[in-house]
Amino acid sequence: MDINNILRSLPKMDVILGDSRLGLIGAKSLLRLATQVLDDIREKTLNGEITEIPLFDDIINKILQAHKASFSRVINATGVVLHTNLGRAPMAKAAVQAALDVAECYTDLEYDLATGKRGSRLKGLDQLLCTITGAEAGLAVNNNAAAVLLTLSALCAGREVIVSRGELVEIGGAFRVPEVISQGGAILREVGTTNCTRLSDYEKAINPNTAAIIKIHTSNYKVVGYTQEVDISELSHLAMDHNIPLIYDLGGGSLVQVSNKETTVQQVIGLGADDIVCFSGDKLLGGPQAGIIVGKKNLIEKIRKHPLYRALRMDKMSLAALCATLSLYEDEEKAKREIPILAMLTTPLEDLKAKAERLLAMLPSENGATIEPCESQAGGGSLPEENFQSYAITIEESFARPLFKLEKLLRDNKPPIITRIYKEKLLLDVRTINEADFSEIAHAFAKIFNMEGKV
Ligand SMILES: *Cc1c(COP(=O)(O)O)cnc(C)c1O
Repeated sequence: MDINNILRSLPKMDVILGDSRLGLIGAKSLLRLATQVLDDIREKTLNGEITEIPLFDDIINKILQAHKASFSRVINATGVVLHTNLGRAPMAKAAVQAALDVAECYTDLEYDLATGKRGSRLKGLDQLLCTITGAEAGLAVNNNAAAVLLTLSALCAGREVIVSRGELVEIGGAFRVPEVISQGGAILREVGTTNCTRLSDYEKAINPNTAAIIKIHTSNYKVVGYTQEVDISELSHLAMDHNIPLIYDLGGGSLVQVSNKETTVQQVIGLGADDIVCFSGDKLLGGPQAGIIVGKKNLIEKIRKHPLYRALRMDKMSLAALCATLSLYEDEEKAKREIPILAMLTTPLEDLKAKAERLLAMLPSENGATIEPCESQAGGGSLPEENFQSYAITIEESFARPLFKLEKLLRDNKPPIITRIYKEKLLLDVRTINEADFSEIAHAFAKIFNMEGKV
C-alpha cells in the first residue's frame, strides 16, 4: 500500500481521545501520548519501516503501554528477596504506618518540644542506632552510596585512603569504589593484589598523608582459590596503632543473623571496626532506602557537619520508617516475625513446602503445574554464598509452549506476576509470594489457561 494511503487511514485524533479504554489517563497526558504514538507511526511509514496500517486496537495498546503514571504493585514470584528492580525490601507494617503518620501531619521533626526551640532530626535515630549496634553514635542519609561518599568527603578529602586491590569493586548502578573515592576528593592508595592482601601491605602504605583505611565488603563477588585478606580485628588494631580511622563499607549490613556466613553489624563493631561502619537501610535491614553510618562520636559529628550532609539527608517519611524498623530490632524474635524480608529469609523449608501445596491446590488442574524444590536468593548483592532452599510451582514447556509466552502473560496480568524460567520450566518460588496474593495468582492462571486451553 502506498505511503499516502497509510497516512490517510490513520485514525483521527478525536476518535482516539474518545476511546473508553483510555479513560483513566489524564487529558493532557493522553493528548501528548497519542500525538507521540501517531507521530511515531507517521515517521516509520515515511522511512519505510511500516508498510501496513496498524490496527486501531494496537494503537490504543501502544498508548496504554506508554502511559506510566507511577509504580504499580507486582507479585514477586522470583524468589529473589531483595530484588533491586522490584524495589528491594518491602517494609514492615509498623514502618509503613510511621511513614504515613508523619506524611499527613506536622511533626516535631526538627523541633524540641521541651524547649520550644529548634531540635535535631537525627536524635531519635542516633539513640536507636547506639542501642542496637553498640556504636557510640550514628546518623543516616539517602542511601549507602551517599553514606560512603559523605564519609570520604568529610574524613578523607585531600588525603590518601588505603584500599586492598581485592576490594576495588563495582557494586552496580555505577558505584565503583575507585570512582567514589576520587569523587569524595580523596586519593586512592591501592595495596596488595586482586587475590591476596596482607597486613604488611597496609602497614607499608601508611604515611603522614594517610586519612583512613577503608574496607569494602565485596558482597556481590568472590575470589576463589588462593586468597588472603586481613581480618577486621587485625586491621582495626593497625589503624588504631597509627591513629587513623578504619572505615568499613558493609553494604547490606544485617542486625540479626539470617545466615552463619554473614557477620552482623554488632559483631563487626565488636571485632573492633568501631570507627565508622556504613550499611544500607533497604538491604538486609529490611527498611526504607537509607545509608546508615555508625561509629565514633567525634567522627560522626564531623560527618554531620559536612556541607554534603545537608544535600544527602533523609526525608521525614523515610526517617520515620527507618526508626520504626530499627525499633523492631529491640526484640530479635519480633524483628524476624514482622520485618518481611527477615520473615521470608528465615521461613523453614517445610513451611515453604506447605505453602507451595496450598498455592497448587488453588490453581486450575489442567495446566500441569507441580511442586519442585528450588533455590531462592537474598539478592541486592547480599549473601551471595548462601543457598536458600525453597519450593516452587513449576510448569513444564509441554504444558505451555513457548514458556516465555506464559511468562509474558503473567507479567501482563493486573497486578503483574513476575516469574522466572529455569531449565525449561517456569518457576513461581513461593518464598517471596505473599499468601494474600494466592487468589490473584489462581485467578490469573484460570484466565490464561481458559483463554486458550493451552498457552
Ligand atoms: C549495596 C552496596 C552499596 C550501595 O548501597 P545503596 O544503599 O544501594 O546505595 C555500597 N557498598 C556496598 C559494599 C554495597 O553492597
